[in-house]
Amino acid sequence: MLAGINDGAALRRLRRRLLQWYAKHQRDLPWRRTRDPYRVWISEIMLQQTRVAAVIPYYERFLARFPDVWALASAPEEHVLAAWAGLGYYSRARNLQKAARSIAVLRRFPRDYASLRALAGVGDYTASAIASISFDLPHPVLDGNVLRVLSRLTAERGNIRSELVRRRLGAIAEELLDRQHPGQFNQALMELGATVCLPKQPLCSKCPVSAQCTARRQGQENHFPVRSSRPSPNRVEKQLLVIENRARVLLWQRPAGSRRLAGFWELPEREQVPGAVVQGEAASFRHAIVNTLYTFVVYRATIRRAPPGFHWQERRNLDRIALSTTAKKALASFAANAGPSGVP
Ligand code: SF4
Repeated sequence: MLAGINDGAALRRLRRRLLQWYAKHQRDLPWRRTRDPYRVWISEIMLQQTRVAAVIPYYERFLARFPDVWALASAPEEHVLAAWAGLGYYSRARNLQKAARSIAVLRRFPRDYASLRALAGVGDYTASAIASISFDLPHPVLDGNVLRVLSRLTAERGNIRSELVRRRLGAIAEELLDRQHPGQFNQALMELGATVCLPKQPLCSKCPVSAQCTARRQGQENHFPVRSSRPSPNRVEKQLLVIENRARVLLWQRPAGSRRLAGFWELPEREQVPGAVVQGEAASFRHAIVNTLYTFVVYRATIRRAPPGFHWQERRNLDRIALSTTAKKALASFAANAGPSGVP
C-alpha cells in the first residue's frame, strides 16, 4: 500500500482531498459538462493519442454533425472520415461508426462494463471511463496520466512499460478508487496527472496528495516513472507527385479493405506513375507514424492522361473528400512554396 496510508481513515482522507481539489481546480472542458455516454465515449476515443486542446474543436464539430449515436450509425463512412480528418489514427473513426451501428441494433447505449468493452474500438481504459463517468460504476481507469501519478505515489521502481508493473499499479488504482464517486475520482486522478503531476517537473507544492506521495517524501519525484529506452525510429523517405490539370489534381483512393487509411485519397508516389514527367522538387516535410519517421519529398510533375486507378479531383472539392493527412500536408507545403506565378 501507499506510504502514509495504513488504515481506512487515511485512505478516505486521500480520496476526500483529491475530490475536493478536483471540484475546485478542474478545467472546464466540453465533455465534462455532460454524463451522456455517447458524448463521453466520443471524447474518450478522440483523446486517445491526441492532446486536449487539439481535440476540443474536433469534438464540437463532430457532435454538431453527429449529435447522437443514431446520426453516427446512419451516416456514410466518407462523412465520418471527413469529420475526423486531421485527428489521425483513422481506425478510431471507423470503429466508432462500427460500434454506433451495433448500438443502433441494440436500441440503447450499453450500461455495463462488459457490454461497453464488447464495442469495436473500446478497450479496458475506455470501458472503465464510460462506465464510471456516465453510470457511476466502480471501475478504475489506467491511462498514461494515472500510471504516472501512481508510479510516483508508490515510488514504483519497475519499468512502467512492463505488463507486470501495469498490473501492480492497476491493483493500487482498484484499492484507491472511491466507490461512492468513481467517475469523479477517476477524472480527478487523470486531471492531477494532466495539470499538476506533470511528466517533467511535477508541481508538488500544489498537489493535494503530496503528504501521501512516496516519491515526494524521498525527493525523487523526477525519477518516476521508470522507463527502459525505446528503439530509435525507422527512417523512410517517400516521393510524392503533385500532378495538376487545370484546376484538378491527380489522386488515388485506398481500397475499402486497406489495412491503413481505407477509403482515403492520396497523392501518387513516384513509382506508381512511371509515365509522369517530373519537373523538380517543390517541398519536403516530415511525418511520424508510430515508430517510423517519414520524410516526404514533393515534386511537381505532368502526365498525358490519368493512369488506371487514378482520378482527377477538382481542387475546390478537396475539403469534401477524405484526404489523408500526408496528402494535405504535401499540398499545403507545395502551395506555400509556389512562387508568384504558382510555379515552385
Ligand atoms: Fe506527483 Fe508531486 Fe503529487 Fe507526488 S507530490 S503525486 S510527484 S505532484
